Amino acid sequence: MADLVLAGESLSRADAMRILRADDDQLLAILDAAYRVRREYFGKTVQLYYLKNAKSGLCPEDCNYCSQSRISEAPIEKYAMLNAERLLDGARKAAESKARTYCIVASGRGPSDREVDHVANVVRQIKDQYGLHICCCLGLLKPEQALKLKAAGVDRVNHNLNTSERYHEEICTTHTFKDRLETLDICRSAGLELCAGMIVGMGEVHEDVVDVAIKLSELNVESIPINFLNSIEGTPLQAVRELDPRFCLKVLAMFRLTNPKAELRIAGGREVNLRSMQTMGLYPANSMFVSDYLTTPGQKAEEDFRMISDLGFQITAGDYESSKLLDLWNTPHTKSCAAETPGSGSCCG
Ligand code: SF4
Repeated sequence: MADLVLAGESLSRADAMRILRADDDQLLAILDAAYRVRREYFGKTVQLYYLKNAKSGLCPEDCNYCSQSRISEAPIEKYAMLNAERLLDGARKAAESKARTYCIVASGRGPSDREVDHVANVVRQIKDQYGLHICCCLGLLKPEQALKLKAAGVDRVNHNLNTSERYHEEICTTHTFKDRLETLDICRSAGLELCAGMIVGMGEVHEDVVDVAIKLSELNVESIPINFLNSIEGTPLQAVRELDPRFCLKVLAMFRLTNPKAELRIAGGREVNLRSMQTMGLYPANSMFVSDYLTTPGQKAEEDFRMISDLGFQITAGDYESSKLLDLWNTPHTKSCAAETPGSGSCCG
């Protein structure tokens, strides 16, 4: 399969399904194929992302997996859009955590024009002070909002497909899969890079996982975050059990082989689902979040750094080399890298 992909061929749906259904005895061969492709495009580099929950809870949507939805009873912190100072403070922590990308995430169906103006103003300051790569995840966007974010220096917008078109209405009824595609289209037209992924483990079948991988390949997205459901008490999916870590690795390998050149990120639910096999996830994936998620905690940044160096991999600034950021990395810092947000397995957008 790796030879075929490296020769520029697309992985067939049948082969993608074969990976997900493969016997565990084939796991190392599957990871080897995925790693050959990862190494071709990303070498041994790992890009780190840092999340900031800019607005929490209070969402009118009903995404079943999300602790911030209107149907969730999870006891999370709820607050309106953070002020510039708090968002800038998050950018500083992102740089201290060696993250190349600062992800500004807000709950809600979509942002108001005022919220977009606020984020745009803060992004200009972050670019000036830290030179970080910026990804915004603000929900459904209008064309003029996407253009405003682009003009402010936002590099990328995250808007996940979350699941297949077929299964979407099982996990959300307040917006459609088509709405999600429309926002991705609007962002692409505005000149923004696209980050779109899925949440695995919400009751979908293997065909749904493959559908998402193939759809993302058609959309040619630059970045794919794969969340493994971290079921949260108080949400409709609270009783869903953790996934088999070997299956998670097959999912990551399948996404790498169907989307060879995309950044593939192990996102929410890494610690609870991959567990002791987290390290192996970096053979197919070339990126991960550092510190906490939106409303659930992640492992300490220092443990992530050790995992990466134990693999013989290097943290990189990627294509977006910034002298400001590299200076910051090279400056010894004494503060803990842990994010302050009691962090989710959920993701808006
Ligand atoms: S994922 Fe986003 S849109 Fe859906 S309920 Fe959560 S905050 Fe709202």
